[in-house]
Amino acid sequence: MKSDTSQLPQGSSVKVRCCIVGGGPAGMMLGYLLGRAGIDVVVLEKHADFFRDFRGDTVHPSTLEVMDELGLIDGFLKLPHQRLEKMDGLFGGTPVRIADLSRLRTKYPFIAFMPQWDFLNFLREAGQRFASLKVMMNTEAVDLIRRGETIAGVRANTPDGIVDIEADLTIACDGRHSTVRLRSGLEVEEIGAPMDVLWFRVGRKANETENVFARVEPGKMMITFDRGDYWQCAYVIAKGQYDAVKARGIAGAAR
Ligand SMILES: Cc1cc2nc3c(=O)[nH]c(=O)nc-3n(C[C@H](O)[C@H](O)[C@H](O)COP(=O)(O)OP(=O)(O)OC[C@H]3O[C@@H](n4cnc5c(N)ncnc54)[C@H](O)[C@@H]3O)c2cc1C
Repeated sequence: MKSDTSQLPQGSSVKVRCCIVGGGPAGMMLGYLLGRAGIDVVVLEKHADFFRDFRGDTVHPSTLEVMDELGLIDGFLKLPHQRLEKMDGLFGGTPVRIADLSRLRTKYPFIAFMPQWDFLNFLREAGQRFASLKVMMNTEAVDLIRRGETIAGVRANTPDGIVDIEADLTIACDGRHSTVRLRSGLEVEEIGAPMDVLWFRVGRKANETENVFARVEPGKMMITFDRGDYWQCAYVIAKGQYDAVKARGIAGAAR
């Protein structure tokens, strides 16, 4: 798997069977699966690496089973991670066990906490053994190539200039502000999420033993993940209330 564009004839086009736009969890996993099946596939990722602001790091039992089925689990679980088996909540001050994953009939009855970029780097490295899979970093799809009514690939901006990537199948995995979706004229159907989540870190003292996953009171909810030396906090607010909460400050909003 190559991650540079130096092998590409600049200003011209390359042809692949499948072009996946976006190297997030969807694109990298699909690229891995197609590469594993021997299909000529390229994944385009506009950033130079997978490092992003926090965007989630819970890897759930079902995903762990998939990693197992792919023969990747041993290497994956060697990466630094924390395991969560039980989740406790405080509902208006009443302690409640919300979930006990250790009771699941699954091979991996826990949630693994691992930064998403570690997960994606792992997939990228694991895919390097498939000659038919290429991951092109620093490569942004900027437009679609059309042949009549058919999408025939993408035009991409690479560090070395514009390259046309012709493909029998083009797949949009470029996230919530998808360029491919926009250019293909697909409309977004708003389903009206009622809430937003503010994510932040709070320092954790070494002697803290209480580990409450969720604190819920009428109109308020806070999730906390134990990340060793800090708490990863998710404070749920009503949709559209960000500016008001920001003006009051988290401490004021949580009162
Ligand atoms: C704050 C937060 C917390 C979350 N917590 C969790 C969690 O704990 N567990 C969990 O399972 N999920 C969590 N999620 C959800 C999870 O992050 C998303 O479901 C997942 O990232 C979606 O994957 P994706 O591959 O579809 O899109 P994305 O992750 O958005 O990836 C899209 C990729 O496409 C690239 N891209 C965009 N446009 C182009 C272009 N034109 N050309 C080339 N590349 C492009 C982007 O750089 C990006 O790398 C969280 C999300 C957020 C925001």
